Amino acid sequence: MMSISENIKHITSQIPENVTLIAVSKTKSNEMLLEAYKSGQKDFGENYVQELVDKATQLPKDINWHFIGHLQSNKVKYIAPFVYLIHGVDSFSLLKEINKQAQKNNRIIDCLLQIYIAKEETKFGLDFEEATDILHSADFKELKNITIKGFMAMASNTDNTEQIKKEFASLKQFSLQYPEFKILSFGMSSDYKLAITEGSTMIRIGSSIFGERNYNK
Ligand SMILES: *Cc1c(COP(=O)(O)O)cnc(C)c1O
Repeated sequence: MMSISENIKHITSQIPENVTLIAVSKTKSNEMLLEAYKSGQKDFGENYVQELVDKATQLPKDINWHFIGHLQSNKVKYIAPFVYLIHGVDSFSLLKEINKQAQKNNRIIDCLLQIYIAKEETKFGLDFEEATDILHSADFKELKNITIKGFMAMASNTDNTEQIKKEFASLKQFSLQYPEFKILSFGMSSDYKLAITEGSTMIRIGSSIFGERNYNK
C-alpha cells in the first residue's frame, strides 16, 4: 500500500496541468490531512459543514477549502467567512443565501452550479433547463457577492463506462454555452481519468488518496 503523499504524487503525475486535484478528506483525521498538505496539496474537499469548520480552525490557514456536499441554507453562515469554492449549489434560494452571507463577510464567494447528469434518483442538482433559467434571470444578476465559476456533477454509480462518459459529455456540451466559466468539477477515484478525457478541470478524489472510508458518508 502506498502512503498518502505517494498517492498524491502518483495522481498528480497523471493529470494535465490545467486540472486541479481536490483531496476529498471527509471523515479523515487532521494528521492525514497534514500529511497531504506537507506533500504540497493545498486544495481539500469536505462535505459536512461542522467537520469543515473544525478542520479549517485547526489546520494551516493557506488551505483552499472546497465545500463539495449538499449545503443547507441555514448552514451557509458557518462557512461563509473562509470557504474557497462551493461546488454543490443546487437552487436559486441557496445562491441568494450565499450572496447574503458573503456580503456580511465583505467578500465574494465563488460557486459552481451542481448539475444533475446521473440516471439515479438520489443525487442532488439542477437539470440543464433549471440552470439556464437561473443564469438568465434578472434576480441572478442582482447577486453581487457571488461569482459562478462553472459546474459540478456526479456521474451514475455504475461500471458502465459508456454511460458515465455520456453523462460527463452532456455537461461538457452544455458548458460550451458559457465560455466565461472555466471550472468543470467532475471525476472521483473511480472515474477521474475518463472525466479528464471528457473535459473535467477539477477532480475530487478521496479514497485513492486516503484509503477507503470506514463508514459510509
Ligand atoms: C466523497 C466524495 C468524493 C470522493 O469520492 P472517492 O470515490 O472517495 O474519490 C467526490 N465528490 C463528492 C461530492 C463526494 O462526496
